[in-house]
Order: sequence, then structure tokens, then C-alpha cells
Amino acid sequence: MTNIAYKKITDRTLVATSEDFIAGAISLDNFSLVIDSTLFPSTGRLLRNQVEKVFKLPIRFLFITHYHGDHLWGVPAFNDVIFLGSELLIENIIAEREIQLIRFEEWRKREPKKAHLIDEIDISFLPHITFTNGIEIRDGKLVVELNHCGGHTSCSSYAYFPHEKVLFIGDLIFAKQWPWAGDPTCNPDKWINALQEIMNLDVETIIPGHGPIVSKEEVEVYVNFLKKLKEETITILENEKGVECIKIPPFYKDNTPREWVKKATLEYFYNYYGNQLG
Ligand SMILES: [Zn+2]
Repeated sequence: MTNIAYKKITDRTLVATSEDFIAGAISLDNFSLVIDSTLFPSTGRLLRNQVEKVFKLPIRFLFITHYHGDHLWGVPAFNDVIFLGSELLIENIIAEREIQLIRFEEWRKREPKKAHLIDEIDISFLPHITFTNGIEIRDGKLVVELNHCGGHTSCSSYAYFPHEKVLFIGDLIFAKQWPWAGDPTCNPDKWINALQEIMNLDVETIIPGHGPIVSKEEVEVYVNFLKKLKEETITILENEKGVECIKIPPFYKDNTPREWVKKATLEYFYNYYGNQLG
């Protein structure tokens, strides 16, 4: 069974971390809101039980930051909760459905011990309420702002809780490690813009989609890295050189547990800006 570590970050926020995912929750006065549903319905249920136990409030909303499985597939555990996401979340879930069913089949064969967990995944769930730019969840004086920005994926969004200066940033930050920019809907320019906007928010604690909890310093490191990687990629393209010639700007260069993440990201930048330059 997946080991999940739960940690209360502030009075009103909780984070659940495992090898495969990070999810969390915010408690308002009369209800709580869960952010991301974990990888499996079974882990989603564990998260749900913990949030209800710690906050002693009903969970009224589930907000999904983007359509990747490690954030989305626990949704069946919240089947009686109002599901919120950006408008493009629906588009991305639907666009991926067919291929995803094939991938589940392959996954069952690859990891038969997980077959019962995979069987419980149900990708027919879609958000009940969507937003194009943003939406505010209010409970008395407390507010949680859900904002759509794109970047890591076209549907990427984040949850900002100004009352405690906490931000759930999803996969816009893979803290202390390489970003994964291999999704077909990734937009490096929107990613840079989103992080620049986030730099203007009054935030002390940032819960990333992967890696340790960080502060705005990490956002600055990240946005500088993405900007430099963009510049370098454009220079390489202008000189008509191949992707292998990209000189990686100083960053978590030697801290890449998954080499394919780095490779996919460099190739994506190269193709993305290559298409832009025509
Ligand atoms: Zn992701």
C-alpha cells in the first residue's frame, strides 16, 4: 500500500505526500476544499478520511490542478463532492480518454500487483463547475482563489489561500528538480508568465506538485531557469543546430533522477520554439 505522510502546514492547510503524488486541503469555517485527488481512488479515500478527521468539516469541493493521473485519478473517492477545474480540464480529460484506457491495460500487465488499484480508476468523472480565468470559493471572510494559467499543461491552474499566504501550485513547480515539459499541451511561454504572476502574490508557503514544500525563492529559480532555457533554445535554433547542442543553464543540472524528464523537456522546448520561428 502506498505510504502517505500527512502534515498540517498552517492552521487551515494540510498536505498529503507520497512517492507518487502530493495533494492537500484547505479548511474554511464551514467546509473544506481538497486540492488534487491523488493517483488512485484508494489513496483518494485515505486522503479524504484524513482531511475529515483533522478538520472535522464536510468536504464540499474538490479542485483538480490539471489532468495528469497522479492528480486526477483519485476522483472517484470524492464522487459526492463538487468537482472544480478549469474549462480546459474537461477538454484534456476527454481528449486523452481513449488512449488512457489502452495505457491502463498496459499498466495492469506491467504491474499486476496494482491491477486492483487501476481497476478502480474511473475517468468518466468531469468537473461540475469550470472556470476560464478564475473563480473564488468563499466562506464568510475566507476566500480561496482558483486561477487558470496554463503552462505545464493547457489546463494547469493553482489554488491561492491569501488568509494564510499558502499556494497550491500543482506541477508548475517540480520543487528542487527538473520541470516536466513533455505534455503535448505544454506552453513554455504561458508557464513563464504564470510563474511571473505568482511572484506578485503575497505568498509564504508553496505546495508543489512534486518535491518538498518551498517558498517564492523556488519560483524565482524556476522562472529564471525557464527563461534562460528559452533564450538558449532560440539561440541554438537560430544557429540551425540540433537539440543536443543546448547548453543547460545552471539549475538542478546534476539532480535529475529521471533522465527522460530532462530529455523530454529539452526536446519540447526545441520543437515548440522551432515551430514558432517557422
Ligand atoms: Zn503534471
